[in-house]
Amino acid sequence: MRRIIATGKTDVGRVRDINEDALLVRDGVFAVADGMGGHLAGEVASATALQPIKELEGKVFADASTAAEALREAVIAANARVSDMARTEPSYRGMGTTLTAALVEGRRLHVAHVGDSRAYLLRDGQFSQLTDDHTLVQHLIDEGQITREEAANHPQRSIITRAIGVSPEIDVDSMSLDLEPGDQLLLCSDGLTGVVKDEDIAQQLAAGEDPEATVASLVDRANEGGGPDNITVLLLRYEDARPADEGGDHTAEGDGHTPRTISIVTRDDHADGDWAGRLGTYGSFTKAGPTAPSGEDEPRRAGRVLWRATAIVLGLAVIAGLVWGGGRFLLSQSYFVGLDGDQVVVYEGIDAEVGPISLSRVVERSELTVDDVQQWYRDNLEAGVTALSLADARRIIAGAPLRNTDAADGSDTDDAAPEGTGEGEALEDTGTATATGGPTP
Ligand code: MN
Repeated sequence: MRRIIATGKTDVGRVRDINEDALLVRDGVFAVADGMGGHLAGEVASATALQPIKELEGKVFADASTAAEALREAVIAANARVSDMARTEPSYRGMGTTLTAALVEGRRLHVAHVGDSRAYLLRDGQFSQLTDDHTLVQHLIDEGQITREEAANHPQRSIITRAIGVSPEIDVDSMSLDLEPGDQLLLCSDGLTGVVKDEDIAQQLAAGEDPEATVASLVDRANEGGGPDNITVLLLRYEDARPADEGGDHTAEGDGHTPRTISIVTRDDHADGDWAGRLGTYGSFTKAGPTAPSGEDEPRRAGRVLWRATAIVLGLAVIAGLVWGGGRFLLSQSYFVGLDGDQVVVYEGIDAEVGPISLSRVVERSELTVDDVQQWYRDNLEAGVTALSLADARRIIAGAPLRNTDAADGSDTDDAAPEGTGEGEALEDTGTATATGGPTP
């Protein structure tokens, strides 16, 4: 007979006044949420997001895929609740939260995830990050690209992040895998991972202390590292509890679990993922299991990996600057209205490119083309007009100043500033090998 031992702890850390993280440890359902927003809104967001997950407790599912879907739906419901509150209550405006949730049914583990809290798995000495971080911070800079009007209207489009509650629509990553005896699953907020290195986390898990001590040590380490953020750690151990003869002890002493060499599975061991996922440092399991590279010639792929590495470094530098410098991790799903060729379209992501990597994708196309709008507005479109949401982007398009018929003169349509990645492909959640990014220079 197998059992799950779950232990969780959340701590305010050493810098913040309040703890906006929340965690859920229930029978078979577990979650970590890291809320953000002014005043108490972050707390509200994270607590609210956990509710639909909690409601899964005790549910019985027909099969694994039903269970996985139920978990995904719960995350979608969490998004609906938080975004409703954010929309209707002024003091909650702009709040959001990460949500990394797990459902265990028998030996089947399902994980659903949005944001930058993480799930890790330690199995047989291999430590891997199951989730992709949905963080990308914008470097909003443009030498040439931003016009005066643009700068005046849209001083900052800061960050892109997939988060619960920021928009009525949400993309949820989900994955499932079969647990094996001895597996340790860690869910945690960035208050841990921003401070404690993966290697150290892995070592701590591998040391095999009892779960409470392990969790406490991890929290302590984050605090020793300055505790700049709220810290939440949730540890699940899947154990093979021997039948009667070995006695059903309550502690997680384990079956002669000896420390061993830990290897970290890095993301580069895997095939390409999406650009947001690139920011995650370590490899992930996907729905389909470890991804295999698709048939693509090696040198080209290697080149892209290098570029991506650069992007990761830049991205992390920006995140670090914001988190440590600016203090607050500004959360927003970013949309902007721009051009794709001649066409006026809505992009999701950031209007910037790093090397050949486009950080945005087209999510909606309009009927308008550059020729339909006034000349001055084209500059704005070329630079990208930031929108608060998809709905806002639609309003921007609806309100675009159209060209009067007298305003003569043609169209130079060649260099549209934000180069999209084409529809739909780039931001899929798992590590399917897609070539994001425009043409490589
Ligand atoms: Mn945090």
